[in-house]
Amino acid sequence: AGGRGATSRPGKEAAVLGKALPGARERFAGQLVLVTGAASGIGRSTALAFAEAGARVIVVDRDAEGAARTAESALAAGAAGAWAETVDVSDGEAMEKLADRTCATQGVPDVVVNNAGIGLAGRFLDTSVEDWKQVLDVNLWGVIHGCRVFGRRMVERGQGGHIVNTASAAAFQPSKSLPAYSTSKAAVLMLSECLRAELAPHHIGVTAICPGLVNTPITASARHAGVSEEEQERRRASTARLYRLRNYPPEKVARAVVRAARQDTAVVAVTPEARGIRLLSRLSPRA
Ligand code: NAD
Repeated sequence: AGGRGATSRPGKEAAVLGKALPGARERFAGQLVLVTGAASGIGRSTALAFAEAGARVIVVDRDAEGAARTAESALAAGAAGAWAETVDVSDGEAMEKLADRTCATQGVPDVVVNNAGIGLAGRFLDTSVEDWKQVLDVNLWGVIHGCRVFGRRMVERGQGGHIVNTASAAAFQPSKSLPAYSTSKAAVLMLSECLRAELAPHHIGVTAICPGLVNTPITASARHAGVSEEEQERRRASTARLYRLRNYPPEKVARAVVRAARQDTAVVAVTPEARGIRLLSRLSPRA
């Protein structure tokens, strides 16, 4: 692990925030925003959205090159500063060190987006203990570590802030093909709700974002338990086709993250599949 400042400025990419930019800039310009899993997909778009709003952005991912690329793009998009950090979010000690390093050099983040996650498909009884552990280590423990190490420091600083955790529409929908993944996301939803109640008196908001199918590379790396490597490849290709067909862009999720952090929303459902859970989100306690 280690910090790496971004220096070069590649060509400007299409804007993420669009019409949402003016209000977001007012709110987030100069603020420190940390996003995990930001080398790719939803995390990358989220880092770029906050960059466009003029935030200082810390890009965290286990993929060092991808994180450095996002940090470079963040500078090009207008970030007031951008740094790449190579960290495995499932490693509690590494996350504690990340928080120490960040707070010593840049300060306590105003916004933390615990977004890193992995896909795992396969029926309950076909899923090995190792696979269960791996998906819970990243999708659940990664979020717990992020909330613990930064939540404590945000409370100590006493200036409020916001934590956004990426759950999923899968958190609400029992599925024969995604038991471990859905369990990890249901747990993220619940921990977010519990933490929201605990941090409200400190003016720290907590949001659980619940996307349905979003067109990102997650399908290419997802494991399919209980089947041969060849069959896994076939399934990966077919889910990737389905996600491409639905074509819901990660930029839209990124805009929802920025809006949620600005308006202090508890649970946010994005993508058409996730619409059904909007009603449920009304049950969520408000700060
Ligand atoms: P993605 O694969 O494009 O991005 C995930 C990023 O997380 C990658 O850059 C990866 O390197 C990083 N990562 C994975 N494990 C890590 C670890 N242990 N430590 C640090 N970084 C790690 O996928 P995405 O679709 O952008 O996923 C982002 C989040 O959104 C995940 O939590 C995912 O479960 C969730 N989500 C995605 C969808 C979807 O349809 N794409 C739907 C609902 C929820």
